[in-house]
Amino acid sequence: MAPAARFFDFVVIGGGSGGLASARRAASYGAKVAVVEGRGRLGGTCVNVGCVPKKVMFNGASLMEAIEDAKHYGITVGAPAFDWGFLKTARDAYVKRLNGIYERNLERDSVEYIDGTASFVGNGEVRVNDAVLRASHILIATGGHPVIPAIEGAELGIDSDGFFDLETLPRRVAVVGSGYIGIELAGVLHALGSEVTVFTRTAQILRHHDSIIGDTMLEEMKRQGIAFEHNSSAQALRRSTGEEAPALELDWVTGKGSAQEQTQTQTFDCVLWAVGRAPNTRGLNLAAVPGVQLGPTGHIRADAFQNTQERGVYALGDVFGKSELTPVAIAAGRRLADRLFGGPQFAQSQLDYVNIPTVIFGHPPAGTTGLTEDQARAAHGADSVKVYTTRFTNMYNALTPYKPPTAMKLVVAGPDERVVGLHIVGRGCDEMLQGFGVAVKMGATKRDFDACVAIHPTSSEELVTMR
Ligand SMILES: Cc1cc2nc3c(=O)[nH]c(=O)nc-3n(C[C@H](O)[C@H](O)[C@H](O)COP(=O)(O)OP(=O)(O)OC[C@H]3O[C@@H](n4cnc5c(N)ncnc54)[C@H](O)[C@@H]3O)c2cc1C
Repeated sequence: MAPAARFFDFVVIGGGSGGLASARRAASYGAKVAVVEGRGRLGGTCVNVGCVPKKVMFNGASLMEAIEDAKHYGITVGAPAFDWGFLKTARDAYVKRLNGIYERNLERDSVEYIDGTASFVGNGEVRVNDAVLRASHILIATGGHPVIPAIEGAELGIDSDGFFDLETLPRRVAVVGSGYIGIELAGVLHALGSEVTVFTRTAQILRHHDSIIGDTMLEEMKRQGIAFEHNSSAQALRRSTGEEAPALELDWVTGKGSAQEQTQTQTFDCVLWAVGRAPNTRGLNLAAVPGVQLGPTGHIRADAFQNTQERGVYALGDVFGKSELTPVAIAAGRRLADRLFGGPQFAQSQLDYVNIPTVIFGHPPAGTTGLTEDQARAAHGADSVKVYTTRFTNMYNALTPYKPPTAMKLVVAGPDERVVGLHIVGRGCDEMLQGFGVAVKMGATKRDFDACVAIHPTSSEELVTMR
């Protein structure tokens, strides 16, 4: 017998950043809401295998660096001993606490949490376990997952989810991929004591960001002792036979397609794939809702209001694929709930995806908002764009023998020199960006920046004194 249907105003598939934010906002307007989550715990990627545990590791790595710096300030600290197991246990406990807080928040807001995997039965209808849920509004906020390359032995490596399962610090690590996740995890592993080699397909890293970020970070990571294999492509992975400890042999090709093409092999204790993420759409039975269509990258197509082509079905966050960041998913989720349940004053509520600031928690950290220099030239015309750059040593490193660079770029356009891109890399840039993000979002010009009196001595003062 078919299970009896249960009725809601809003069913949210996915209890991650976007889904939870949207569900709670909808409930605040009195809507009857259910969140379906298939992972067995709430919080999604960010809380469980993303931003949160990553930032804990970044903080640990930064402390190791500070200990190294301390002696140059006359502070004697014994050789640091690092206990990966301790940090992992503490981090996991913190994440578990957050899972509980998210669950209690739903309870407090009268949002029903349904533990299970949802798939569509038809328009306005999803199945979870043995239950059928009906709603006039259904949100797909199912996020994404790491991609594993289709090469022999790839399953012997780990992805970013697997990084958070590691019980010990691996000694020799290959990080394959140089997007922000690869670069962040490479920085953490190196600072905590691993020997790290990063494999990149090109001569650059962080290719999707302005070149000042990738170039500066690459230079500094190399100085720190991280090895880079550029223009390389992983070919195969297998268990090593010649080593005592379980180890892996990675084959990779350099100079692919050129006369210099060469296959090389190196042994590692851990190979971490950081080659991209793909949207979670499998298992949703989208065939039952033909108006929900996928774009060329497999992300769900939606308009500026997050509407799919299927009446009453919406998509946002990583499964939608525009600026895959937690605050983006949250903001889009809240805007959608405002529009659907908040009354006529929110009829046009939508997220503006322009000038979204984001940080790469590398060592050093970097921040970026707006257009890269190349994008600005393409969008505004080469002649209309001007660039201000600066490079200096943070005063923090005045006393250390090593001088990590801080580099900054302002990209301005038009006769009024509106700031259309801001890219900063170096110590403190992670915390520096948010305020400048407000200014850029407000349409600040170079003159506005210059009109703000500098705070001295800081790094950020350079952004308002550029010539
Ligand atoms: C290593 C790493 C570091 C990151 N660091 C940052 C950072 O520093 N800052 C930042 O802003 N962003 C960061 N991100 C990105 C951020 O985590 C995502 O952009 C964000 O979590 C997306 O939110 P979402 O709601 O779209 O999806 P998710 O948070 O992934 O939530 C989707 C949820 O849907 C569930 N689900 C999937 N299919 C179904 C189904 N059929 N039924 C029921 N449930 C289902 C999943 O289990 C998941 O819990 C990081 C990501 C990674 C991987």
